[in-house]
Amino acid sequence: MIAATSAARRHALRLSRTIDQRISSQFLHRTFASRASLSSHVIVDGNGQAEKWTSSTFAAVALAASVVACGAFGRKRSIVRLEASNGGCTCDKSDKEGDAIDDGDGSTTILNWSGTHSVQLAPGTYYEPETVSELISLVSHAYQNGIHIRPVGSALSPNGLAFDPRGMVGLSNLDKIIEINKEDMTVTVQAGARVSQVIEALRPHGLTLPNLASIAEQQIGGFVSVGAHGTGATIPPCDEFVTALTLVTPSEHGVVKMTEKTHGNLFRLARLGLGGLGILSEVTLKVVPAHRLVEQTIVLTRDEAKKQLNTLLKRHKHIRYMWIPYEDAVVVVTNDDENDLPLLGPGTEVNDGRGGTKKIVTEADIQAKYSRDEQLEPLRNLLRTLLKNDPDVSIDEDTLNGMGFGDLRDLILALGNMLDPDHIKRCNKAERDFWVKAQGLRVLPSDQLLQFDCGGQQWVYEVCFPVGTYGIPSSGSIDFMDELLREIESSGIPAPSPIEQRWTSSSKSPLSPASVGFHDIETYDTTHALFSWVGIIMYLPSEDKDPTGYRREFITQAFKDRYCRLVRKLGQKYGIMCHWAKLEIDDGDEDRDIAANVRSRLGPNVISKFNAARDKYDPKRVLSCSTIDKVFDRKQ
Ligand SMILES: Cc1cc2nc3c(=O)[nH]c(=O)nc-3n(C[C@H](O)[C@H](O)[C@H](O)COP(=O)(O)OP(=O)(O)OC[C@H]3O[C@@H](n4cnc5c(N)ncnc54)[C@H](O)[C@@H]3O)c2cc1C
Repeated sequence: MIAATSAARRHALRLSRTIDQRISSQFLHRTFASRASLSSHVIVDGNGQAEKWTSSTFAAVALAASVVACGAFGRKRSIVRLEASNGGCTCDKSDKEGDAIDDGDGSTTILNWSGTHSVQLAPGTYYEPETVSELISLVSHAYQNGIHIRPVGSALSPNGLAFDPRGMVGLSNLDKIIEINKEDMTVTVQAGARVSQVIEALRPHGLTLPNLASIAEQQIGGFVSVGAHGTGATIPPCDEFVTALTLVTPSEHGVVKMTEKTHGNLFRLARLGLGGLGILSEVTLKVVPAHRLVEQTIVLTRDEAKKQLNTLLKRHKHIRYMWIPYEDAVVVVTNDDENDLPLLGPGTEVNDGRGGTKKIVTEADIQAKYSRDEQLEPLRNLLRTLLKNDPDVSIDEDTLNGMGFGDLRDLILALGNMLDPDHIKRCNKAERDFWVKAQGLRVLPSDQLLQFDCGGQQWVYEVCFPVGTYGIPSSGSIDFMDELLREIESSGIPAPSPIEQRWTSSSKSPLSPASVGFHDIETYDTTHALFSWVGIIMYLPSEDKDPTGYRREFITQAFKDRYCRLVRKLGQKYGIMCHWAKLEIDDGDEDRDIAANVRSRLGPNVISKFNAARDKYDPKRVLSCSTIDKVFDRKQ
């Protein structure tokens, strides 16, 4: 496990040095100053590919900037780095004209957002087709010659699911919005279009996507292929929004257009297909009328949060819990349509003009009780205390006061031993105090509120498990969290805040962690099953705080060996399955069990149906990667 991590680190370090030499300080300054982008996808190419960079370039260079930030400056400046943006990324054309970065040996290196996985591709094994016909020729050539072509989207997946050193295809040039159909309420896009691009294209038409994950820089191909999800007890994961797709397959079947009606289960396997059945070139998704949401943030005690969960799940369209380890506090964030506020929810009750009442949000309702400065004070104070104890780091008050929540938390964590429970407890306490003062209401377009700040570079592990139905939720959501928090706190796991808990309804895609099984019956009703998603994290220090990489390695080891293992152990009886983009399977004995558990959770029927689909659409397995091999290959 450590060896694998070291290899990834070496690539990342090599990459950061290369980028360090090439990116202008002006660009870095602009990037840091605007803090506009979620970092995502890095391509270091010495093979003339740079001119082909288009839509993902800004995001790519933004990640480069975040990696550079770890090493490019002196110790004191390098603490500043990018984080996931709260309000979504708008990449205009000029931003896309990114710097060409050449590592000089003709190879291509791709690094995921958290810097936890990277892949190095030999010259000539990374392809970026410019047109769909180029993609089709490439896939056909790969099929005939057995050449590897694993598809990659924005490369955001925390486990680097798209990575395969044998050969990859990037879709970023295929990012057209093809059709917005107001009658059918659908949008058809090329699979390389990013979620944020699709939202922007829908905006002038008064439309938007039904739900988002916490970021919007995924490509639509990656977004649906891993079954990304947001939150809402009646809202399924995002693969369920797909109504039609075009799959370019490395098989005699070539290009296959699929809908639920024409291909039934094959369609459902292909939309959440992990890039293993073909390369999605076009995807049609459901859309909904654009709407503003009212977001309410409150902090409850654990007892209150437990008691109120079933009511809140039913009352609110979107709801997430952020449990703070070692603190009797749960941050509860709810979102509801501005024009359809629950009567027992936030806002002011007024006459609805039909003899009844309704809720609206007034200026007075959104008046924050504390100023931003007052909200951030607990974090700033802790930072000041820690700085006093670290003579190597100094930050002037202006800089400190200019730092946002994410920056402050990252720096506070990194200034201590991130594996020391006492240090983590202090950070979590300051974070709780921040949230208590940040309670209140906001009203914004849905795409802005459904995304949120995910914090800095981190290890993340997220599991999903069934918790009854919308009508009758089981006690599983709370039982699982009770057990997890008890174990964390009694065994002193340095668990940073938050442990995030979200809910969705089920997906009919058989590979979805929120699937209730393989259903040949077209009428299967998915609307009532309820699933809970729980994500744990451990943040990673930036490279200036960890020049040797040892801290990251120790954190990696603690995360995998203690924290993830604990979740797996406790989760067995709840029927957990890991999010596909967060499933880490290395080569050790325990990892064989991880793959076996995924197989057993999916069941032999789903495994054999997916393998049959692979035999049909990728008989030479040119799309595969080690994770898919470990879970699905018959020899396993
Ligand atoms: C900061 C952050 C926050 C996140 N928040 C959430 C969240 O709230 N909810 C959630 O569910 N996930 C979340 N994720 C995970 C993320 O949503 C998924 O990893 C993501 O959807 C992947 O999109 P991508 O374009 O980066 O795909 P990649 O990571 O590049 O690829 C993912 C998979 O899709 C396949 N693929 C990509 N493009 C195609 C294509 N055109 N055809 C066929 N297969 C393809 C790849 O082969 C691979 O198997 C988060 C990740 C980060 C870094």
